Formats: sequence, structure tokens, C-alpha cells
Amino acid sequence: MPYNKIPHTTEAFALWREAQDTRTRTRLGGVYYLAAWILTWLFSGAPAEQMPLGVGASLVFTALLALRLRHRLPDETDDLSLRRWLNRHWCLIALTGLCWGLLHAWVLYNPAFSDSWLVATLSTIAFSTAMAYNFSMDKKRAMLTVALLYLPGLFALGLDWHERLGPLTTLAFYLSYLLLVLNRSHREYRNTLALELKLLEQQASLEHLSRTDSLTQLGNRYEFNTLFPALVDNAQQHSAPLSLVLLDIDFFKRINDEFGHACGDAYLSAFAARMRHVFRRDSDTLLRLGGEEFGVLMPNTALEQARRLAESFIADLAAHPLAVPGSSLSVSASIGVGCFDPKRDAGPEALFKRVDDALYQAKKTGRNRLVLAAD
Ligand code: GH3
Ligand code: MG
Ligand code: MG
Repeated sequence: MPYNKIPHTTEAFALWREAQDTRTRTRLGGVYYLAAWILTWLFSGAPAEQMPLGVGASLVFTALLALRLRHRLPDETDDLSLRRWLNRHWCLIALTGLCWGLLHAWVLYNPAFSDSWLVATLSTIAFSTAMAYNFSMDKKRAMLTVALLYLPGLFALGLDWHERLGPLTTLAFYLSYLLLVLNRSHREYRNTLALELKLLEQQASLEHLSRTDSLTQLGNRYEFNTLFPALVDNAQQHSAPLSLVLLDIDFFKRINDEFGHACGDAYLSAFAARMRHVFRRDSDTLLRLGGEEFGVLMPNTALEQARRLAESFIADLAAHPLAVPGSSLSVSASIGVGCFDPKRDAGPEALFKRVDDALYQAKKTGRNRLVLAAD
């Protein structure tokens, strides 16, 4: 699942993960209940005599298995949908546990199953152990299901305690171990979850850093190189306009030479801040393409609208010098503006070249001006 679709707050992520894990782990379980019951039934002294119970319980486990498999996760990842899904799914898990627990008790109680009570008891131990290890994300519900699986059998053994004191004591002792395992497994699950969330956050933060220019906090060349072709594709597919503005600060080298590199850096930051002030629409992506060269990608923006915004940027720069620590410096930029035209532009490179040529024309014809990209 893409990172932006995964819930990001700790609580929401934990719930989303819990639902995913419950779904993954529940797929296997149901089959084993059915298999364990069929074995218990077939290895009983006279399976033919137990036909109604044998077939009936097999059908119940088949139905529960089908319900578990068909109960898919909701598409929505909001709190309410996930909680509702978990509530329902745990009902199915607990019901399966209860059915098994009752059957196990019946097998222990009914002499007709005296040949296969061990099969059922071993299966109960296996199911409870699997529950403690695999479903510890919800400790209370896992405990309840272990109880449903385990206690009916213990109760049936208890009815006959003087004959079955050994198995009864061993099973009771093992139950205490299961509860310890469940607790530990729950703690480990939560720790892993926290670690996973931290990793996802770090991954997102690294991704953001790799796409951001550290001086100006605008998108960097890498961001441009990945976003621009995608936006051109989108413009092509939807026949929507996509405008590109390229800006190059005029005589920037002089700032460095006269005031020093640090002042040049401050100047670049102030220039980026001014860009943010003018190109402020959410859909605009502002970029530093390198050195003192900048760009703005404007989806769903026609050439005329992009030209007007770029003109207002030139006017803004002329009216308000850039403030850098200790002084304010007048500044101008040369700008090329173009709009993707499928008839002229074979792809993103062609549009870029047209706009870059326009920028070059703006430099050549005196700077501090805007030139529209031609053919
Ligand atoms: P033109 O009007 O023709 O664009 O002239 P210009 O001086 O702006 O362009 P030129 O390409 O001659 O010089 C660009 C300068 O930008 C040279 C380089 O030292 C400086 N520069 C590039 N990156 C940075 C940076 O991150 N910080 C600072 N302070 N200067 C930078
Ligand atoms: Mg330049
Ligand atoms: Mg320049």
C-alpha cells in the first residue's frame, strides 16, 4: 500500500495494522479446525454411529471458514470502518473457538470418542497456542478466545477428575503458560508496531528531504525531474493545460562578488520566499532547479494565466527590494513562460526547451523581462 494511504498517527496506524494482521493470520486458522474435527470424528471408535454430529460439526466449521475468508477488509481505512470490521471478525474467531471448545468437551465426556479424545485435546492445545502467539494484537479478545477454546475441555475433565487428574493438572498448568505467552507476545507486537511506524516516518522524511532544496525549502531538481514528466502525462491524458515558468535571477554573481557568498545565500532564500508569496496557489509547485535558477509548474493553468502571474512577480520584485540581513537589495529576474501543447511538444523535454529558449531570449534582450515560449 502506498505510504500516503497508510494512516500516520500512532493510534490510527496501530488500528490499521491490527486489522491487516488479523486478516492475514485468520486465513489459515479455519482450515485446521475443520481438519482437526474430521480427524477426531474419523478416529473415534465408531464414526458411522456419530454421523449426524460428525457431518453437522464439519458443516459448521466449513461455514465458519467460508465466513472468515469472505469477510474482507473494508476499502476505507478510517477508524470507524476498521473497528467495525475487527468487531465482526473477532465474533467469527470467538465463535469458532467456542464451537471447538464445546466439541472438545463433548469428546471428553462422551465414551464414544474415547479413542480420539487425545486428538481433540492436542488440537485444543495447538489452537490455544496459535491464538496466544498469532492473535495477541488484541489481548483481551485473544484471552477470551483462548478461554472459549480451553475451558469447556477443562470443565469436562474436571467432571471426571479422579480418573483424569493427570491431564487436568497438565492442561491447567499449560493454560497459565499460555497467558504468559499471550502477554509477552502482545508486548512484542506493540513494540514492533511502534518501530514500524518510526521507520515509515523516517522513510517519508527522507523522501521529503531528497526532494527538497535545503537552502530555499523549495522542490529540488530531482523533484522536478520526477514531477514534470508525470504532469505532462496527466496533461496529455486529460487534455488539460500545464504551464511552466522558468526564472533566472539577473546578475546574481555580482551579489556574491560584492557582498559575499553568505549574503548570496540569504538572497536566494528571500527570492524563494517572494516566489511563495506570488505563486501561492496550492496546485503550483515551486522549485529551485539549480544555482539561481527557479521554476514553477502550474497544472490546469493556461498560458495567459501563467503569464499574468509571472508578470506580477516581476512587478513585485521591482516594487519591493529583497530583504537580506543588514540590507535590502533590488533584484530582477528574467523569465520564460510556456504551456504544454501536444501539437508542438513531443514530451516534457520539448516543452522545457521551448521555455528555456524563451528565458534565454529574455536575458539576451535586456533581462528583467518575460518572454513567452514560441514554437
Ligand atoms: P545572468 O543575469 O546572466 O543570469 O548572470 P548571473 O550572474 O545571474 O549568472 P551566472 O551564471 O554568471 O552566475 C550565477 C552565479 O550563481 C554563480 C554562482 O557562484 C552563483 N551560485 C550558484 N549557486 C549558488 C548558491 O547556492 N549560493 C550562492 N551564494 N551563490 C550561488
Ligand atoms: Mg543562471
Ligand atoms: Mg542568473
